[in-house]
Amino acid sequence: MSVSARTTRVHQDALVWDAHCDSLLRAVVDDVDLGVASTAQGDLPAWKAGGIDAQVFAVWVDTIYGPYHAARRALEQIDAYYLLAEKYPAQIELARSAAEVRRIVAAGKLAAMIAIEGGLAIQNNLRLLRIYAQLGATSMTLTHTASIDWVDSSTDVERSGGLSPFGRDVIGEMNRLRMIVDCSHVSDKTIEQVVALSDQPIIASHSSCRALADHPRNLPDRLIEAIAKTGGVVGINFYNEFMDQRYRDVMASKVGQIIEVLNKPTSYPPEDLDRIGAERHHNFFRDVPFRPPFERILEHIDHAVKVAGVDHVGIGGDLDAGAIPTPLGMDGFRDYPKITEGLLARGYSETDVAKIMGGNFLRVFEAVRGG
Ligand SMILES: [Zn+2]
Repeated sequence: MSVSARTTRVHQDALVWDAHCDSLLRAVVDDVDLGVASTAQGDLPAWKAGGIDAQVFAVWVDTIYGPYHAARRALEQIDAYYLLAEKYPAQIELARSAAEVRRIVAAGKLAAMIAIEGGLAIQNNLRLLRIYAQLGATSMTLTHTASIDWVDSSTDVERSGGLSPFGRDVIGEMNRLRMIVDCSHVSDKTIEQVVALSDQPIIASHSSCRALADHPRNLPDRLIEAIAKTGGVVGINFYNEFMDQRYRDVMASKVGQIIEVLNKPTSYPPEDLDRIGAERHHNFFRDVPFRPPFERILEHIDHAVKVAGVDHVGIGGDLDAGAIPTPLGMDGFRDYPKITEGLLARGYSETDVAKIMGGNFLRVFEAVRGG
């Protein structure tokens, strides 16, 4: 990859943090070894080559698993993480605090965080939330694409008017456990309620700017500001449909809204869930009408910085869900130095680039999890 010597130095000196990837599901569905170099967007050699120091691994549960099978799907992915760490102890280690992140990175390893993606995984039961925390989960997005029994998604109908009374209990328990509340995916109203309720900084780990691409999954300026005011961070997501208005329009005209594609009411027999889940995983991103320019990534970062300030923006690429379609030149973790190069070219100081590339997320991790 051709980046300047200055870029290489700044990128290497920064603690580079990616706040969201879906590699664990790929490990489970395709039974791949994430320690081996591959053509996928993420694997241990790619994180190393891309200068990634800290990676948040999503434990994502498809809506189809419903409130009776979601925990099994989540636990399989946590197991996939532990098997990876057991096999490659010199390359990756779980971090539960900022001090652990720093120690692991100083040892030349990838600091790994586990994030539950989709409150569906707790099956309406705070005991399961606490068990995920015990297993090392340090954050949770409250929903995925569908509204669930206690909280509304940005890409589904409203069921609870934001958070239900149990949903408010979940936020309270997450605060008590010092699990970071992640507001990617939830409805605007839910974010407003979480901002008012949480006594700790909150994040949107993988959400881009609605002002640049009008998708309900993206954040309007006032909510980017609201998250920043908690001391939190918004991580820019690279998925084309969140990056580029024309791409969004083409996809909406071709396949409809997420609510129609992913959230159709279903009740599959339990024995069919894994087969259907694998089909959905493999097929969802198959249709790629075109690739927007790399500049889109920088434009979203720029916009979020203008709205929230440079202390409240980070990266949550959302890579590796069976290869999400991304802007040209962003083919996986190996391309992350290009973001550093693009930010320097846009006139960001080296200090500010380091904040965006990871320092800001580390600050939130420290504030919630301790030093
Ligand atoms: Zn997501």
